Amino acid sequence: MDDINSFILFTFLYVFFSALFVAPPTEFISAGLTIQNVLSGYLGSEDIAFIYFHIRRTSATLIFHSLIPLGYYLTLGLFAPQLQLFVPWAASSWCQTYLGLSIGIILFAVLIVLYWSSNDWDNHPIAKQLELLREPNSNWRSVAAAVNLEFRRIDKFTSGSPTGRRIIVTDSWVMKTSTYFVFVAHQSNIVLSLARSEEHNISYENMTSVQFIHIEVKRVHEHLSPFTLRLNALDYKDLKEKLQTPVRNAQQIVIRQTLSEQFLHAFAEEISINQPFHPPPGMEVDTCIGCMQKQADIKLHKTCMPAVDEAALGEGDRCVQCYCRPMWCLECMGKWFASRQDQARPDTWLASKCQCPTCRAVFCMLDVCKIVLA
Ligand SMILES: [Zn+2]
Ligand SMILES: [Zn+2]
Ligand SMILES: [Zn+2]
Repeated sequence: MDDINSFILFTFLYVFFSALFVAPPTEFISAGLTIQNVLSGYLGSEDIAFIYFHIRRTSATLIFHSLIPLGYYLTLGLFAPQLQLFVPWAASSWCQTYLGLSIGIILFAVLIVLYWSSNDWDNHPIAKQLELLREPNSNWRSVAAAVNLEFRRIDKFTSGSPTGRRIIVTDSWVMKTSTYFVFVAHQSNIVLSLARSEEHNISYENMTSVQFIHIEVKRVHEHLSPFTLRLNALDYKDLKEKLQTPVRNAQQIVIRQTLSEQFLHAFAEEISINQPFHPPPGMEVDTCIGCMQKQADIKLHKTCMPAVDEAALGEGDRCVQCYCRPMWCLECMGKWFASRQDQARPDTWLASKCQCPTCRAVFCMLDVCKIVLA
């Protein structure tokens, strides 16, 4: 390394590669190059012992990150032998100070982790946090056991990448993992509010615009600090289903809907202006066979007039009368309609046609009639 430019370039590359390990991008995660994968034998299974896994993960992360400054010194020594970094007493005082500092950082991190791990991790910040959440006459380990048990269930809500910041909501717990900590809150002791929303024009994952929302989780206990959940607005509906407390929206933040929600909204609006269908006396209206919950309230009844160019259409593209009895609710019919369309062209859906789920009769939006019982 002869000049200042190559030194700057080297420093830049080192910082870049360290950053890849500290905050790995998706490509790195899929290649398995993360602390969690490298140390999987030591960390154990997250599914079996969630809390202990994260206690070990945060400790290992702290030690790993403390190695980065010394790593810089050693690699610089390899690439620039004239600096004589491997014979510290011959190196410049700057290099000696740097070496001393980076070894000091490692020692400090090791001491912290040793302190955390004493008494089987009693002093780890996550354990201290659980200690504040425990019931009288129990300890943090019983809280950990309760969290581990619920984490094993498959019906939990999760959002975020498994190796980065992740939000986990189970029946009784709201949790957020971060680099050195896991926030844990009991659902019965929190106040939730929508703090803000951010819009990004392009998501690097699928090249569309995305909305992220920030939900502030305030914990009732005075020694437990609040934390923020940041998630894709499209996951918000699933999250709300898992939460027992309402999310206050004092700032009237508008949350964007998923494509299918948007379509169902437009579908219901279109159908509300169609002629209603009055079932003949004696016709039974059953439960919807799609969701088995709502009453069937849709009848496919050809009311559209053939358009001028309709005659040019083939046999399979012309609307025909469906004779099926009502079997579907509005929502299920809307979902069926959407599922049969060109998924890349949502703008064409409302003007397109579809087939009756039962008899395959072709229908258009004008032939979907709401049932009005006399
Ligand atoms: Zn239904
Ligand atoms: Zn039919
Ligand atoms: Zn039609």
